[in-house]
Amino acid sequence: MNKADFELAHKIAAVTGAGNGIGAGIAKGYAQAGAAVAVIDWDLAAAQRVADEICTDGGKACALRCDVSDHVMVEQVVREITDKFGPIDVLVNNAGIGMRAPAEEMTEEQWDKVLCVNLKSAYNFCTTVGKQMIARGRGGRIINMASITCMVGVETGNINYAASKGGIVAMSRCLAIEWAKYNILVNVIAPTHVRTPLINRLIEEHPEKGEYFLHNIPLGRLGEVDDVVGPAVFLASGAARFITGHTLLVDGGHTAW
Ligand code: ADP
Repeated sequence: MNKADFELAHKIAAVTGAGNGIGAGIAKGYAQAGAAVAVIDWDLAAAQRVADEICTDGGKACALRCDVSDHVMVEQVVREITDKFGPIDVLVNNAGIGMRAPAEEMTEEQWDKVLCVNLKSAYNFCTTVGKQMIARGRGGRIINMASITCMVGVETGNINYAASKGGIVAMSRCLAIEWAKYNILVNVIAPTHVRTPLINRLIEEHPEKGEYFLHNIPLGRLGEVDDVVGPAVFLASGAARFITGHTLLVDGGHTAW
């Protein structure tokens, strides 16, 4: 084993939805592993806080505002990152939203919005950064965030979210095959419910949902952001050089039921 295989020294990483929760954790983890990190979010203040924290800890980061569902903004932000740090080696598509409603009450707007932010944005970023990686000819890593909803059905109100995450897995598998010849490795991380501020709020408002989440996780607890960071570093690292088209379940055994 080569220790350097687990480091990201001299790599340029871009993480979307990195102002909060899992994305913020991954951005900080990548910086600790040695990468320069573009912290992308539509909430610039949140992205700036994460970038500042990384820089205070001696890492390299910048914050960028981008609505990931807007193709023009995505192209612009990729240009900005390239100008500042250089071409992107590692892309993490993590930005996402949920708009819950029982299926029979879900509006077309709720369906379209979630599919647009969670799936189309990943397509926007994959193709924009992928083009750059292909032209450069040095391969690359793409990690798309899904969720266990790509494998199992979950509680009421999530058909739009689950469809978007199922789409992420299907798209990533095809991209992995299409871009294998360029050594661009495309993988997915599918976490179970992770204790982000959003989930914490949901559980506070609906304690029965917390019980339900726990009941489904054999390891007996919800995920923590840090549980996802190690797998994300691994998939970006040299150690994962022969893994592509894979969906890594980070779920405490949820889908093994
Ligand atoms: P999780 O950590 O579970 O992925 P969060 O809601 O904590 O969920 O984080 C998602 C991040 O994605 C937030 O920082 C949010 O601002 C960001 N985000 C959501 N939609 C967009 C968008 N259209 N463009 C850019 N960032 C977005």
